[in-house]
Amino acid sequence: MPSLPLIEYRIVPKNPEAHLFEVRCTVHDPDPAGQVFALPAWIPGSYLIREFARNVVSIRATSQRRPIEIAKLDKHTWRAAPASAPLTVTIEVYAWDLSVRGAHLDTTHGFFNGPSVFLCAVGKQGRPCEASIMPPKGARYRGWRVATAMRRKDAPLHGFGVYRAASYDELIDHPVEMGAFTLATFTAEGVPHDVAITGRHRADMGRLCRDLQRACEQHIRLFGRPAPMDRYVFLVTALGEGYGGLEHRASTALLCSRDDLPQSGVRQVTESYRTFLGLCSHEYFHTWNVKRIKPAAFVPYDLAQENYTRLLWAFEGITSYYDDLLLVRAGLITEAEYLEMLGRSITTLLRNAGRMKQTVADASFDAWIKYYRPDENSPNAQVSYYLKGSLIALCLDLTIRQRSRGRKSLDDLMRALWQSYGQTGVGVPEDGVEKLAAEIAGSSLRGFFDRALRSTDELPLKALLANVGIALTSRPAESMSDAGGKPASLPPAKLGERVTLGARTAEDPAGVKLTHVLDGGAAQAAGLAGSDVVVAIDGLKVSARNLEKRLAAFQPGETVPLHVFRRDELLEVQIEMRARPIDTCALTIVAADRAAANRRKAWLHGQGA
Ligand SMILES: [Zn+2]
Repeated sequence: MPSLPLIEYRIVPKNPEAHLFEVRCTVHDPDPAGQVFALPAWIPGSYLIREFARNVVSIRATSQRRPIEIAKLDKHTWRAAPASAPLTVTIEVYAWDLSVRGAHLDTTHGFFNGPSVFLCAVGKQGRPCEASIMPPKGARYRGWRVATAMRRKDAPLHGFGVYRAASYDELIDHPVEMGAFTLATFTAEGVPHDVAITGRHRADMGRLCRDLQRACEQHIRLFGRPAPMDRYVFLVTALGEGYGGLEHRASTALLCSRDDLPQSGVRQVTESYRTFLGLCSHEYFHTWNVKRIKPAAFVPYDLAQENYTRLLWAFEGITSYYDDLLLVRAGLITEAEYLEMLGRSITTLLRNAGRMKQTVADASFDAWIKYYRPDENSPNAQVSYYLKGSLIALCLDLTIRQRSRGRKSLDDLMRALWQSYGQTGVGVPEDGVEKLAAEIAGSSLRGFFDRALRSTDELPLKALLANVGIALTSRPAESMSDAGGKPASLPPAKLGERVTLGARTAEDPAGVKLTHVLDGGAAQAAGLAGSDVVVAIDGLKVSARNLEKRLAAFQPGETVPLHVFRRDELLEVQIEMRARPIDTCALTIVAADRAAANRRKAWLHGQGA
C-alpha cells in the first residue's frame, strides 16, 4: 500500500517584536468536502480548557497560489472551501504566555507547545508530519539554536531545519525552545539527555548534569532497561520567581526560579535546589506514568473537550510520591531530609479541611473545574490529588510491603503497569490500578482503596509508618512560618496558648490580606472573607511583618476588635481568638527492633527486605 501523504508544517518567529509566530499547515490531499482544521482546547498534562484558538490573530487558506475561503465552524475549528490541489492554511499566533503550557516569543527567545500553534488536519491525525522550524530574520538572531526532542529529518543537531513526527499526537508532544540558551548534555543508562536553560542564570551546569544523571538512572532502573525514549530534553526557563513543569514523551518544559539552580561553589543540596531536582524528577517519572501508562480515558486524547478520569491520583499522586523518593535512592537527599519533607506533606494535608469534603477520585474527575481553577474557598472544599495522592501511594507501598512480607512493593506494581499498559499502548481502565495492585499484594485491597480513594476518612499513615519504625507525631504550629516536618522545640503547654486567626494571609500595602478564610477558624466565625484586608487588631496597625507579634498578646477565648477593609468599606468586627489547631506533623525514627529498621531500609532504598 502506498504511504499516505505527509502533513507539512512550517513555523517562523515572524515578528518577535510583536510576539507573532506564523504557522503554515499544508495538506496534499484535502478532504473533497472541504478540509476541516482544529486547534486543541487543552494540552495533555494540564487539565483545563484553555482554548488555544483565542491566540489566533489571522487565518488564510491558499491552493495553487489562489486564495481559498476558510470559515469558522465553532470556537476552535475552521473549514476551508473544497480544493482539488494541495491546500495551505496560514495562521498568525500571538505568543505571550510565559508558562509551560502555551507559546512565548520575544527578541530574546521563542518557545512553543504544539497545541497552541499547529493546526490539526481533522481526519488525518494519523498521518506522519514534517515541521520546518525556521529562525527569525535578522542579524541579532544569528546565535539562536533549537532545543527539542522532536526527531530531526533535515536539520543539524540543535539547529533550525526540518523535523518529523509519526502523527499529529506526536508532533504536539515535543515542545520547542529557540534562542541563545545554555546547553549541557549527559548520558543516563545509554540515553543522551540535553539540559537547555533559557533566561539569565549562573547555574553550575556540570553539577546539574551529574545530579540529574543519578536521578534519571534511578527512574530507568525502576521501570527496567531499556528506557522507552532514545533521547530526552529538559527545557528549562529560569526566572526571578517561577515554578512549574509539564511532561512530554521525551522531554519536559520547566519553569523555575534562577535561585533554585545549583550555584557554582555551593556543595550541599540546598532546599531550593532540592525543589528543582524534585520538579525534574517528577516530570521525568511521567515519561512512563501518564505519557505511556495512560488512563483509558486518554487513549486517544479528545483535544476538543474535557476527558474525564478518576485516576489522576495514580498518575499525579504516585508520580509525586516517587519524585522525592527516587532522590533518596539516588543519594541526592538524605533519609532525614526525606522524612522532613514527608512530615511537611502530611502537615499540608491536615491543614486542608477540603480533605473532609472531597475524595481524591472526585478531585480527579473535577480537575477541569476545580483543581485548575482554585479560589479563596479551595482549602475548605477541595483536596489535591497530587498531595493526598502521594500519601495514598506511600500507604499503598507500605501496605503491599506489609501484606507480601517484604517480597513485593509499589515498584512491582509500577513495573506491572508498565508491562501491561505502557508497553502495549492499552489504556488503563478505571479499575485497572486497583486490580493489578491486589494481584501484586496477593490479597484484596478493596477496603484500602474504598477508604483512600472513595471516602474522606483519614489515611492509615500512623500505623503503616510504625511498621517501618517511624513515629508520626502532631502538635500546634510554633510560628506562622512553621510548615511542619520537625519535632516541637517548645513544650506543649506553651504552644497551647498561641492563637491564630484561622486564615491564610499575604502582604498588602494597607495591612494583612486574608487570602483564604479557613473552615472552623476565628476569622470565619467573625464573618471575614477572602480578599478582606485587616488593618488593625485591638486598635493597633497590623502588617504581615508584625502580625505574629500582635497575635502573641492574646489568649484563646479572648474577644478583640478588628478593623478590616472589604473592598473600600471599613468594617469593625469582634473576633474571638482561637487556639492553634493540632495540625503540624513530624516523623521521627524510633529505636525499634531490627526488623522494622530493615523494612525501613528496604522501603527507602528500594530493596527487598
Ligand atoms: Zn505531574
